[in-house]
Amino acid sequence: MTCESKGAWKYVYRIRPTIFVRMVFGYLAIFIPMIAVSAYAISQLALFHRVTGQILQIDNRMRDYEKKLTDSLLTQIRYERKYFITKDNELRKQFLVVERDFTNQIDEAISVADTANKMEVLTRIRSCYDLYRSLFNEEQEIADESRNSVEEVYKEERKEKVDEILWELRNLKSQIEQDTYNRIKHLGEAGAKANVIAVAMGAGCLLSGIIISILITRSITRPLSSMRDKTRQIAQGDFDGKMDFSSPPEIRDLSQDFDLMCNKLKETDKMKSDFFSLMAHELRTPLTSIKEGTNLLLEGIGEEVKERGKTVLTIMAEESNRLIDLVNSLLDLSKMEAGMMALNMETSDIQPLIDIAVSGMRPLAMAKNMSIEVQIGQDLPLVKMDRERILQVIRNLTGNALKFSPMGGHIAISARSVEEGVTVSVADSGPGIPVQDLNAIFDKFKQTTITSYRKLKGTGLGLAIVKRIVNAHGGRVWVESETGRGSIFFFLLPA
Ligand code: ADP
Repeated sequence: MTCESKGAWKYVYRIRPTIFVRMVFGYLAIFIPMIAVSAYAISQLALFHRVTGQILQIDNRMRDYEKKLTDSLLTQIRYERKYFITKDNELRKQFLVVERDFTNQIDEAISVADTANKMEVLTRIRSCYDLYRSLFNEEQEIADESRNSVEEVYKEERKEKVDEILWELRNLKSQIEQDTYNRIKHLGEAGAKANVIAVAMGAGCLLSGIIISILITRSITRPLSSMRDKTRQIAQGDFDGKMDFSSPPEIRDLSQDFDLMCNKLKETDKMKSDFFSLMAHELRTPLTSIKEGTNLLLEGIGEEVKERGKTVLTIMAEESNRLIDLVNSLLDLSKMEAGMMALNMETSDIQPLIDIAVSGMRPLAMAKNMSIEVQIGQDLPLVKMDRERILQVIRNLTGNALKFSPMGGHIAISARSVEEGVTVSVADSGPGIPVQDLNAIFDKFKQTTITSYRKLKGTGLGLAIVKRIVNAHGGRVWVESETGRGSIFFFLLPA
């Protein structure tokens, strides 16, 4: 087999019919044989109907004709005998009436006869009868001429013809009986055969119906029960393992969505444990500092607060501020996630906000011997924004630039007009961000994988808040960075 044909077979093998197609084909596979069984039963009933019709309409009628013909022949003989003895004209008339009856009946019988044999017998009867009639007529003429003659000339020939006719009538009777017998026999055989075939086909239909139903039901319930097992696993906290089974496309789609949901749950579960460990760490450090400081101060109660005491109080204030910032960030984020962030929108210039943020950063920048450059583009349009929130965004981005840049580094903040509105960028001379983290850092609690950053204090909430604020303004935020070459954070606000 060539590679191409192997591929084609693989493709055919992979085609999985939908539940709808399975059901339709399943029902067709059950109904078509049932229709065939019904058609066969109907054809057999039609055969029975035809054969019983033949028995009723042909054989019974032929039997009637045979009886009537025999009766009328015997009646004719009686009239004939009486007539030749008495020469009574009334008797001759009676004879002629019966003769007409006989002729009519034999003609009708010939038209009803359904087999060649019967036809032959009836024709023979007819010709014998014609001879008998002509003998009677001749005899009658002779009798008319010689009124006194008592001797009948054709008596013997007539008797012979009558016997012959009676014999043929008996022959006809036995043929009718034979035909009826044959038809009933055929009917019985066909009935028995139809019975066997109908039972076999019915049983086959029932069996194939049961098998097809089981197969269709299994192809639906098997993947469903696998999904039920997986759901139970998830309920017990086990998110591992993919659902991999052959199933109809509808269930396969459902299982893929289920896998997706499972991955999301796994991520959320990890995020939850990350959050707890981070929070434990973030809360423990400042709380320990505050506790230590309080102990130190308690030890020095009554004495003057000396230089050492001031340092301790400064650390305690810093740590308290960190705690407050952390709690505020968490509250902000949960408000935003719950869609409860109310924006106080006003049309405003963005430059004053950049100036406020930069002047707040200057002391820290000076401490790190860093330069801050601000470039504001010409004809910057006014934008609709919540000033407090956008100031929070600029502070966060410049704060990160300051935090992650080394001593003596450089920060450039620019604002320029673009087609859609205003873009603000914050560039730094920090260590940059690995390409695989460029999107992830905007998720909450996400920090870069570069371990050296870990020693810098942070919660991974700042950029998540920035993204939500900018998105709530109908804008977008993104970063361009290369490790070792600094980063540039951008955000765009629609004008
Ligand atoms: P935090 O700074 O409190 O950790 P953020 O959400 O502000 O939280 O930042 C998330 C992560 O993104 C940071 O921990 C850091 O790893 C990375 N990051 C942010 N800004 C910069 C930057 N200017 N240079 C390098 N990495 C940055």
